[in-house]
Amino acid sequence: MIETMNKPATLIKPGQTIGILGGGQLGRMVILEGRKLGFHFITLDPAADCPGSQVADQHIAAPYDDPVAAQRLANAADMIVYEFENIDPTVVSALERQVHVPQGSRLLEITRHRLLEKQALTAAGIPVAPYVAVVTEADLHRGLTELGLPAVLKTTTGGYDGKGQWMLKTEQDVAALPKELFMQEQPLILEKFISFHKECSVVVARSIHGEVKAFPPSVNLHRHHILHMTVTPAPLAEGMSDKAVRLAERVAASLEVVGLVAVEMFALESGELLVNELAPRPHNSGHYTFDACLTSQFEQFVRAVIGLPLGPTELTSPSVMVNILGEHGEAFNQAYGTLPGNVKVHWYGKKEAKKGRKMGHVTVVDDLESAIAWIEASQIWPPLTEREKKVIYDK
Ligand code: AMP
Repeated sequence: MIETMNKPATLIKPGQTIGILGGGQLGRMVILEGRKLGFHFITLDPAADCPGSQVADQHIAAPYDDPVAAQRLANAADMIVYEFENIDPTVVSALERQVHVPQGSRLLEITRHRLLEKQALTAAGIPVAPYVAVVTEADLHRGLTELGLPAVLKTTTGGYDGKGQWMLKTEQDVAALPKELFMQEQPLILEKFISFHKECSVVVARSIHGEVKAFPPSVNLHRHHILHMTVTPAPLAEGMSDKAVRLAERVAASLEVVGLVAVEMFALESGELLVNELAPRPHNSGHYTFDACLTSQFEQFVRAVIGLPLGPTELTSPSVMVNILGEHGEAFNQAYGTLPGNVKVHWYGKKEAKKGRKMGHVTVVDDLESAIAWIEASQIWPPLTEREKKVIYDK
C-alpha cells in the first residue's frame, strides 16, 4: 500500500534549482537522480571541470569560502545542500540566513569534527570506541595510560581515507609522532584500537518531516584506508543487521539529521556494535543502492531534503560494489568492452587518474559467490586476501 503522508507540501517544486556545495562524484550522482525528479542544479566547487559541474545546469568555480561566489550561489538557488563535510560551517550558516539549507550547519559542525561527533554520539547513548581528547603531549601520555596500546591518534578535522591518522602500536610509534601535532589549535583525539571482526555501515535518510528510513546494512573492506568493496546484504551474524539498522536510525533521530547520514560501525566478535564515523551525505558504501535497491541513496537524499515521502529501500538483488581507483584504470579500460550486463558501471568523469583517487565504481548485481568469482577473474583489482575472504564469507 502506498502511504499518503498528511504533511505540508514539499519545500521546492520541479523546475526550481538546488545549489550544491561541492562538485565531486557524490554531487554528480545526486544531480543525475535529482534531474529525474525535475530539478535544476548549480554547483560550487574550486575545480572548473569537476564531476558535478559536468552534469549541472550551472557551475561556479571558486573556493568555498569566497563570499562573492557564495552570494552568487545563494542568488541562483532555491535551496542549498552540501555533498561533503570539509566545508566551513560558518559559510553554511551565512547561506542559511538567505536560502533554505535543509541539512543545516549544526550537522556539519558536528560531523566534520571527530571530537564533537564522538561527544554528540556519547550524549545520545550511542556506543563508540573509548577515546580521550588530546591537546598537549602530557594529555597524550595520560590518554595512553588510560586506554593502553595499541591506540589510534586522529586529527579532529580534515582527515579522510586514513589521512590525519597515526596508528600507535609501540612506545617507539609514540616517540616518532611529529612534535608539530601538539602545536595546533585543534585538539586531537586518541582512540582505543578496536580489534573488530568486521566493518559495516548503514545509510539512513531522515526527511524534513522527520520520516526515517534506512538502507540495508553492508559489510565493507578497506585497502590502505580507502573503501575497496561493499557487500550487501551484509554477511553478519544473526540479528546483527537489524541491530545495525536500529542503531543507525537512533543516530539519525538523535542528531535530527535532515538528508542522509552514513553510519560506519565496527562489528565485534561479541556481537557489540561501535559507531566509528558519520558522514552527513551520500556515502561510498551506499553506492550499491543505485543498482540494487528500489530507491538509490541519491534519490532518497533529494526526497529527504525537499520533503517528498521517502522511497522504499528494499534490496532488489544482492550485490558487490568495487571502487575503481586511479591505479585500476588501465586494467578496467582493457576489460571495458567485455563487461557483462550485470556489472553496472559508474564513471565520475575525472580527467586525471592518480593513485588512490576514486575514478568510478562498479556494482556487480549478482549473488555473492558469482559476483566475487567475476571480480577475481576480471583481474582489475589485486585478488582478495585470505583475511578479506573470511570477512565477506564468514558470518
Ligand atoms: P576513520 O577515518 O575514523 O573512518 O578510520 C579509517 C579506518 O581506520 C577505519 O575504517 C578502520 O579500519 C581504522 N580505524 C579507525 N579507528 C580505529 C580504531 N579505533 N580501532 C581500529 N581501527 C580503527
